[in-house]
Amino acid sequence: MTDSTVATLKASLRGGLITPTDSGYDEARKVYNGMIDRRPKLIARCADVADVIAAVSYARDNKLVVSIRGGGHNAGGLGVCDGGLVIDLSPMRYVRVDPKKKTVIAGGGALWGDVDHATHAFGLAVPAGIISTTGVGGLTLGGGIGHLTRQCGLTIDNLLGVEMVLANGKFVTATAKENPDLFWAVRGGGGNFGVVTSFLFKAHDIHTNYAGPMLWHIEESVDILKWYRSFITKAPRDINGFFAFLVVPPGPPFPEHLHNKKMCGIVWNYTGGLKKAEKVFKPIRAFRKPALDMVGPIPHPMLQSMFDALYVPGLQWYWKADFVHELSDEAITHHVMHGSRLPTMFSTMHLYPIDGAASRVKANATPWAYRDAKWASVIVGVDPDPANKDKITNWAKDYWNALHPYSAPGAYVNFMMDNEGDDRVKASYGKNYSRLAKIKKRYDPSNFFRVNQNIRPGK
Ligand SMILES: Cc1cc2nc3c(=O)[nH]c(=O)nc-3n(C[C@H](O)[C@H](O)[C@H](O)COP(=O)(O)OP(=O)(O)OC[C@H]3O[C@@H](n4cnc5c(N)ncnc54)[C@H](O)[C@@H]3O)c2cc1C
Repeated sequence: MTDSTVATLKASLRGGLITPTDSGYDEARKVYNGMIDRRPKLIARCADVADVIAAVSYARDNKLVVSIRGGGHNAGGLGVCDGGLVIDLSPMRYVRVDPKKKTVIAGGGALWGDVDHATHAFGLAVPAGIISTTGVGGLTLGGGIGHLTRQCGLTIDNLLGVEMVLANGKFVTATAKENPDLFWAVRGGGGNFGVVTSFLFKAHDIHTNYAGPMLWHIEESVDILKWYRSFITKAPRDINGFFAFLVVPPGPPFPEHLHNKKMCGIVWNYTGGLKKAEKVFKPIRAFRKPALDMVGPIPHPMLQSMFDALYVPGLQWYWKADFVHELSDEAITHHVMHGSRLPTMFSTMHLYPIDGAASRVKANATPWAYRDAKWASVIVGVDPDPANKDKITNWAKDYWNALHPYSAPGAYVNFMMDNEGDDRVKASYGKNYSRLAKIKKRYDPSNFFRVNQNIRPGK
């Protein structure tokens, strides 16, 4: 890598090249998790496929490690690397909806808010995550869990195809018919196989839901969790609801008497129609009167962005996760003990249901192996103050250590940090790992794309 080759790369990129001496460098290397502080040599802002091909080729020719940045949300900071080249897809945020076919094309750097905005105009939605600033790229390639998981499956279950640039610089399409092995691998295998420049999704008729959080006092959490575990696993597919331990933020729309209180809650999303909603929620409300009930009609994009204002970029994040088959009484006891000790106002624990439509897909139909698990758990230590880094990390680790014996060996790869090790990645893909490793060998034999939950090229 010389000044002249860098200048040539810079001249060839429509989106621009940022180096450590540029004034925008520190802003450009930031990712969502404020704990991550990595210093790449080059940040290639890619405006189109040609830019991605140029960046991949340059990194390969100059033996630079590469990271791919979609929305920059990965808690382990996998969108940015030290001493290498960042392929930053943030200029590629286009979204195009085909209302007749009910399909959506999103650029490799689009955020879910971009997709929700574009699809809502046509009364459509694609299953995504619960924060609208998360990238389509990373969330989709890892699986995609959210408010529509029980109704419509994981995000990958709604992926119809991708266009991508491989490690050798070739541009390919992967669908069920074209390069089907690659299409299988990208539906859960993360950024291991190349840079996805566009995604094609199936969209659903979803416009206004009956949704929002219901909160109960923390002292009631054993009862709520016991009720929740049996209710949600038997509930019709048009109800989604994830459980949370949380601290009520000290501001509107929350009533003052609940400010800063530790509570437990369920964030519901019912898509079966507003006419039926009140009736469907009658038994839910009857089980135990919530201390706060914010469930009601809400346009889908509002639900999708409900927590954005709380979780702004730059906070400190430390996550631990697992898949969960069963919530035993003993596990609930541990949950309540640690959930009652949330270390900061932003910290939380979520149990996301992954049954319903997501469980109707066979375990080997995509790399996402845990189709028989009932929940994906995530313990999230969060705070704005870097001085609280150890406090939130230790709490998350202690909580996870107590619950892991009651959980599956693997976790949802998008809820893992960057250093959990090869065995944990293998455990997360289970029986699908060896097929992933074979496909990795075929498309990326030198492990060029390795800043991710890495799948080693098979023998
Ligand atoms: C606040 C918050 C809320 C979240 N909520 C949810 C949720 O509700 N549901 C859920 O499923 N997940 C959720 N996540 C996890 C999220 O799915 C992962 O963090 C994911 O990696 C984010 O994708 P990104 O594109 O923003 O990340 P980035 O940091 O940009 O990228 C992460 C990795 O994804 C890969 N990647 C990204 N884009 C591409 C691309 N176009 N081509 C190839 N590889 C690519 C790369 O390997 C990269 O290293 C949440 C994360 C945060 C921080």
